Amino acid sequence: MFQFSRGIYRELAPLAMPGARRDVLAACEASMQRLATDRLYFARPARRLFADVRHCFPLSEHERVWCVVSTYVRAAETYLDSVPQGDGGEPARCPATTRGGTACRREPLPRNGYCPSHQHLAGTHGHGSIAA
Ligand SMILES: [Zn+2]
Repeated sequence: MFQFSRGIYRELAPLAMPGARRDVLAACEASMQRLATDRLYFARPARRLFADVRHCFPLSEHERVWCVVSTYVRAAETYLDSVPQGDGGEPARCPATTRGGTACRREPLPRNGYCPSHQHLAGTHGHGSIAA
């Protein structure tokens, strides 16, 4: 995901007010990190990032800043959609299906890859035996 935070930063840095570039970089990295690891609970990431960085730019640049932020966030989301899992620090998710029929995606236990609610499913898919 770093290519996206760096990309945003490269475009935004020249527009930022003096001394604000570090804030911009930190906000971009935090935002992309969160998008990669906590996407389900990260509503409107582009708006959030813009809200975090807009104080770093003169008002006259806000429209351009929003353009860059929304373009890159969309690209990052498209990228995340295209990469199933396990890219650059994205944690694995419980592969079980909930009673509601949706993917569980809770954080799995390292020993069997399922979350605590679904660990009884481990071993039912021919993953081999688990030493008890
Ligand atoms: Zn689960």
